[in-house]
Amino acid sequence: QVRVRFPPSPTGNLHVGNVRSALFNWVFARHYGGTFVLRIEDTDAARNLDAAYDVVYDSLNWLGLTWDEGPGVGGPYGPYLQTERLDTYAEIVPKLLDAGHAYRCFCTREEIEAREAARPQGAPSGYDGFCRDLPAETVAEKQAAGTPFVVRMRVGEDPITFADLVRGEVTFEPAHVPDFVIVRSNGEPLYTLVNPVDDSLMKITHVLRGEDLLPSTPRQIVVYRALNALGMGDGSIPIFGHLPTVLGEGNRRLSKRDKGSGLAEYMERGYLPQGLLNYLALLGWAIADDRDVFTLDEMVDAFDIRRVNANPARFDPKKCEAINASHIRSISADELTERLVPFFVAAGLVSDPPLPDEAAKLAAATPLVQERIQTLSEAVDMLAFLFVTDEKLTVDPAVAPGADAAPVLSAAADALAQVEPFAHTEIEAALRQALIADLGLKPKFAFSPVRAAVTGKRISPPLFESLELLGRTSALARIAAAAA
Ligand code: GLU
Repeated sequence: QVRVRFPPSPTGNLHVGNVRSALFNWVFARHYGGTFVLRIEDTDAARNLDAAYDVVYDSLNWLGLTWDEGPGVGGPYGPYLQTERLDTYAEIVPKLLDAGHAYRCFCTREEIEAREAARPQGAPSGYDGFCRDLPAETVAEKQAAGTPFVVRMRVGEDPITFADLVRGEVTFEPAHVPDFVIVRSNGEPLYTLVNPVDDSLMKITHVLRGEDLLPSTPRQIVVYRALNALGMGDGSIPIFGHLPTVLGEGNRRLSKRDKGSGLAEYMERGYLPQGLLNYLALLGWAIADDRDVFTLDEMVDAFDIRRVNANPARFDPKKCEAINASHIRSISADELTERLVPFFVAAGLVSDPPLPDEAAKLAAATPLVQERIQTLSEAVDMLAFLFVTDEKLTVDPAVAPGADAAPVLSAAADALAQVEPFAHTEIEAALRQALIADLGLKPKFAFSPVRAAVTGKRISPPLFESLELLGRTSALARIAAAAA
């Protein structure tokens, strides 16, 4: 029975690299009919705000990556917030100490640094094991004297090897895995302890996560082995798969500070969840060599973790937009309208909820932009002219018709005043007759001033459809204003 987990820290925004991890775990679980566990790694108290937990829940819900066990849903291995599991960690540490899997380390930072500086060039860095085998009396004396200590895991002498689902066999030499701290001197348990403890107690079978976490894996295996030796685990160690690094600009790992690295930005810009997930899937996986666009269901069917590529994947914002645009084109116009509503409400262009005439106008306008937008928020900019009053329309100064456009505007106004019915086919015929046939203008010079006058922009949805939706009265008022 496959059990995977997504263990974000509540930092206030999800990094798209973490969203990719959530996606691969979720899809892996769904593919095998397994369980997707959400666990919140919130022991780093300084970073946690209540709202930050909601960001995690809201983000996953928006993405549609729903969890089978975790906060809100519960499950047999809860609680699923690490701050509610402190008693569990506090019980485990003395057991690790008693059995010799861990030891108290009284070295100060200065002592460690001084010894490190005295080591020969090229010797492995990291803790030198000074307190590893202190005589029991020394430990007792120091404890009696109240000397501060951290708790360190004792790493064995053998190389640590595991079969990574993405990278094949990975080996860490013991010299590169120094004894590591699992409890701070103030008693706080660290990620190095709580992450593998929870994976073990929550019976996680597969750990799929970013390659940046590869260095923690040998340490976590050490903790796992100790728990198994104590009879606290089920004897097994999860199977790891490290997903390729996501690169941002300049071949550097896409970091939290990089633009485009936070999920909130994609939600605000109006990505469709399926569009963003489709793009994130491509960071390491492909459904087929010649195919980029697919649904989540198709991914669940086809997903094979062994076919994830170990090479770093470049985050390409342009491609991400293009994939999203494909998904926008593939949903129904009705669904698109529904998705656009919150953006028009937020922009103050329609009431909340939209009044019937506003809803009808938005529904009629949707097909004009469906093929033209890459994100939902772009529709707001393109269609705002339909929802503002004639007085409120702002005309881009770069395209505002000048005095030379007066004859064009006046001929267009005459044609539009008379055309019957006021529908795009008839409007097109009337304007072509008046401006191109009668005035002898090239289409570009004929239609640009009209477009600028009624939409305020150089680029708009198709002009004749736009005029039809705007209606005769507004069209004439705006042309008159532009000509004045
Ligand atoms: N809380 C860790 C993180 O968000 C979890 C890493 C892991 O998957 O083990 O980076």
